[in-house]
Amino acid sequence: MRILLLIVIGLLLYVIISHLVRKSRLEKLSAPNQRSQKMVKCSHCGIHIAETEALKKGEHFFCSQQHLDDFS
Ligand SMILES: [Zn+2]
Repeated sequence: MRILLLIVIGLLLYVIISHLVRKSRLEKLSAPNQRSQKMVKCSHCGIHIAETEALKKGEHFFCSQQHLDDFS
């Protein structure tokens, strides 16, 4: 009977630990992606924006169409 109890506790620990490991692994995978978002500077006003949201013209980045137009 005691052995059965140990097996049940062992299984519970295994389930909990594997769940925690999977969770922390997911957090490690998703965290760098958010941080690796490249920031660029608007060549007109100097504000920092994500490269994916910036407007690019040649080597220059802009925060808005207005600033892109004003620069050229
Ligand atoms: Zn700007």
